[in-house]
Amino acid sequence: MGIVIGEPMIQEIHDDGLKNKKLQLFVLRLDLLHKYISGNKWYKLKYNLEEAQKLGKMTLLTFGGAYSNHIIATAAAAKEFGFSSIGIIRGDELKEPNERLQFAIEMGMKLHYVSRELYRDKDRLMNYVTEIVDSNETYILPEGGSNQLAVKGCQEILNGINIPCDIVCCACGTGTTLAGIALSLKRDTAVIGFSSLKGGTFLEKEVQNYVGNGLHNWSIETNYHFGGYAKSTSELMDFIKGFNHQHNIELDYVYTGKMMYGVFDLASKNRFIPGSRILVIHTGGLFKE
Ligand SMILES: *Cc1c(COP(=O)(O)O)cnc(C)c1O
Repeated sequence: MGIVIGEPMIQEIHDDGLKNKKLQLFVLRLDLLHKYISGNKWYKLKYNLEEAQKLGKMTLLTFGGAYSNHIIATAAAAKEFGFSSIGIIRGDELKEPNERLQFAIEMGMKLHYVSRELYRDKDRLMNYVTEIVDSNETYILPEGGSNQLAVKGCQEILNGINIPCDIVCCACGTGTTLAGIALSLKRDTAVIGFSSLKGGTFLEKEVQNYVGNGLHNWSIETNYHFGGYAKSTSELMDFIKGFNHQHNIELDYVYTGKMMYGVFDLASKNRFIPGSRILVIHTGGLFKE
């Protein structure tokens, strides 16, 4: 597809605590791939964009909260590939668009704010959608961009990465990225997903739906949500600040900060076998105009 995407970069993390546990840690910097279609979102969108083109759809429509990285990425990708775009935004209390939504508007995305109640009721929400768009012309992406084609794209995240590793770690929202990685792993490698939501039991089912029952190379850590989606604590914020200071890598507090905290915490609790090589995926999420 015709998009200028940088080569993924791998950065080794040098840390005495990890060295004492005989662990090696590498970060796959997907955050550096593209300014707006950042991190895993490009992989999730890629085959959906192709499919929309194949079907001759002119418009992409998707759903998300006011801080959704998926909304930003979809708006930017739509512009880059010549689609119109529509965002259905959760919450009709917003008086002014925040800077993320402002960015989506600048990319040409038309926003519709709906009440949380309507947003939650998926049948009514779809009725609402068919009232405002021509469904023959519109390609509908689910919330978070989570579908089978997104999983297919995420199976390519580790393409061309040839540093040997035993464990891959990634942050989880819908679990789509985790599913794609699990499907793409070589034997003797496992992937751990760190849920950024409280009560991650639905996640297990989501991932299992994508990968089937026969694959056992993946697991989900549910202890690092720090109060729930987009919640944080001063401990988490201090960790993110310290990590950036020490390694010159910015993390966000919704996804990658929680995952990285989790990785260091598991390491300190001897949950990784000494000698393990860990590859952490930086899925992006840092919005800067
Ligand atoms: C969207 C997002 C995720 C979650 O990806 P899923 O495929 O929904 O699990 C993780 N990290 C960042 C930075 C994201 O923007």
